[in-house]
Amino acid sequence: MRTIKMLMVLLLAASVTTSCSIFQGKKKAPAKKTASAKKPKKGDIQPYSKVITKEAKSDEGLFTVHQVDEKYFYEIPDSLFEREMLMVTRIAKTASGLGFGGGKQNTQTLRWQKKNKDVLLRVVSHQVVAADSLPVSIAVENSNFEPILYSFPIKAIKKDSVTNNTVIDVTDFFTKDVKAIGFQQRARRNYKVSRLDASRSYIDTLRSYPQNIESRHVKTYLSSDPPSNSSVQSISLEMSNSMILLPKEPMKRRYFDQRVGWFARGQQDYGLEDQKTKTVTYLDRWRLEVKDEDIAKFKAGELVVPKKQIVYYIDPATPVKWRKYIKQGIEDWQIAFEAAGFKEAIIAKDAPTKEENPEWSPEDVRYSTVRYLASPIPNANGPHVSDPRSGEILESDINWYHNVMTLLHNWFFIQTAAINPDARMNNFDDAVMGRLIRFVSAHEVGHTLGLPHNMGSSIAYPVEKLRDPEFTKKYGTAPSIMDYARFNYVAQPEDGDVALMPNIGPYDKYSIMWGYKPILDKTAKEEKSVLDSWILEKAGDPVYRFGRQQRGVIDYTSQTEDLGDDSMRASAYGIKNLKRIVPNLGKWTGEEGENYDELENMYGQLVGQFNRYMGHVT
Ligand SMILES: [Zn+2]
Repeated sequence: MRTIKMLMVLLLAASVTTSCSIFQGKKKAPAKKTASAKKPKKGDIQPYSKVITKEAKSDEGLFTVHQVDEKYFYEIPDSLFEREMLMVTRIAKTASGLGFGGGKQNTQTLRWQKKNKDVLLRVVSHQVVAADSLPVSIAVENSNFEPILYSFPIKAIKKDSVTNNTVIDVTDFFTKDVKAIGFQQRARRNYKVSRLDASRSYIDTLRSYPQNIESRHVKTYLSSDPPSNSSVQSISLEMSNSMILLPKEPMKRRYFDQRVGWFARGQQDYGLEDQKTKTVTYLDRWRLEVKDEDIAKFKAGELVVPKKQIVYYIDPATPVKWRKYIKQGIEDWQIAFEAAGFKEAIIAKDAPTKEENPEWSPEDVRYSTVRYLASPIPNANGPHVSDPRSGEILESDINWYHNVMTLLHNWFFIQTAAINPDARMNNFDDAVMGRLIRFVSAHEVGHTLGLPHNMGSSIAYPVEKLRDPEFTKKYGTAPSIMDYARFNYVAQPEDGDVALMPNIGPYDKYSIMWGYKPILDKTAKEEKSVLDSWILEKAGDPVYRFGRQQRGVIDYTSQTEDLGDDSMRASAYGIKNLKRIVPNLGKWTGEEGENYDELENMYGQLVGQFNRYMGHVT
C-alpha cells in the first residue's frame, strides 16, 4: 500500500519537475548566457575550498555550520534532504514591556529540498492529513502544496567516497526580514513596526548539535510606538530558532479523551470512515517503550526500565543548596510511572562539567534541562516541543526564575503562618524553602510530562479532612499536584501536625498511567476501547476527575487557589487564620536595623489572600 502511494507521489513529483524545468529552461537560458559572458563565476557553484576557506570556523552536527568572516554557511548532507524538521522560533531576550524572554513566536515543520542549482526550504503542513494508504491522500497532498519559505543558491558541493554535501550561504536568511523566523505579525502591528533596520541586525551565534541547530540573531525593527525606550523609535530583540530533526518513524499516537487532562494537538483527517472531515486529537507525551527483552516481564506485571528514560539535567547555574530539592521534585514522578508499568522512568542528573563532557549544552535537544535564570520574574514554567505528527515530546527545558522563591515565601507565609512557626520570618530555613522548591519542581515537571492544570482536583477532599493529620499525611491536600491548591490554610492551630501541601497524588498516578501505559500489539485506533475502559473504571469518583482551567470561573468545582469540597467553608477557615496573622505581622517581619518595607509587602500579600478567599464561591 505504501509503495503504491510512493509511486504516485514520485509520478506527481516527476510531472511537476518536468513542467518546471521546461519553463525554467526557456526563460533562464538567455539571462545566464549574458551573466556568464560578463563574469564567469558569479553566482555559480564554486570549488568547495574557495567557499569554505582555511579561515573557516566549523561546527559539526546535524549540518556542519561554517563561519567565514561575516558569512555563515550550512553544509547539508544528502541524507538529510527531504527529512522533516521542526523549527521553533522564540524571543530569547527582549526589552522590558515585551513580556517574558523565551516566549514562543512560531512553530513550523520544514523540509530541505534540492532543486537544480538551489536548495529550497519548504513549509510542511500537518494540519490536514489522510492515511498514506488511502486514495484520498493524493488529493490531500495536492491541496496541501508546500509553500517555499526561502531559496538558497548552491555555493559549493563536497564529494568524497561516503558523503555528498551541499553548501549554502544562510547569512541573509537570518539577517534579513524573513517573517516566519522573526517577530510575529501581531506584535508588529501593536508596536507600529515599519521595517527591519539591517544595519542594527546581525547573527549572534549559530551552533550545531547532533539533532538540532540553534541560531541566535539580533533584529532591530523601526517602530513608531515601542513598548519602552520610546526615544530610540525602535525595538531590538534577540530571536532564537531551534531546528530539530524529526524522527524517521513517528511514535505511535495515543488519542485524546476530554475526561483525562492532557496537552494535546489536533489534526484534520480526511481518511476516516465518517462522511465529513474530523479533527483527531492526540497526546503530547514522551516516547516510553518497553525493551524487546522485557516484554514478557512487562506482560507479567513486573516493572521495567523503559528503552529510553526521561532524563532531566540540572543547570550548572543552580545554587548548590537547591539542587537536591529540584531533583527530588523530578524523581517524585517515578511513583506515577510505576502505575504505567515502568520503574526509574524519569531521573535527574547534575549537568556534566566541562571536563566530563565539553560538548554538553542545555541547547542540545538531546538534553532536557531545568534552567536556572537570574531574573526578577517570580515564576517558573515548563514548556515542551513535540512532534506534530505523533505528539512525541522531543525537548523540554523548565525555566526556573530565581524569584520563584519570593513567590513561595509569600504564599507559604500568608497561608500557613498561623499554624506553622517555620513560616513566620522573612527568610526561611533552607530545609523549609527546599521543601517548597521540591513542590514547585514537581508541579512544573508535571506540565512537561503532558499534564495541564487540573483545577477540579481539590474539591474531591472534604474540607474537614484537611484538618486531619493522618488523612493529610496520607493523601496530601488535593488528589493532584497539578491543581492550584497551594498550601493548607484550612488547618487550625489546635489540629496538630497536618500536611501543608499536595504530593504526586492518586489523580496524577492515574493520568500518567492512562497516557503512558503501553498497550502492546494494538494500533492507536484499537487502543481507544482500552483507554475508555480505564476511564470507566474510575467513573463517578471525584478523586479521578479532571476539571479544566477556566478563564472566568463558571464551573465552581474548578476554581483556582481553593481547597476542599466547600470552598467558602475553607475560606472561612483561611480568614480565621489571617486574623491570627494580622496582629503578629510587625513582629514576624521586623528585623533589627531594617525599615518597614517587608511589613508593607506582607500586608499587601495578606490583603491579596483575603481577596482570594472572598472571591471563592460554593
Ligand atoms: Zn502550573
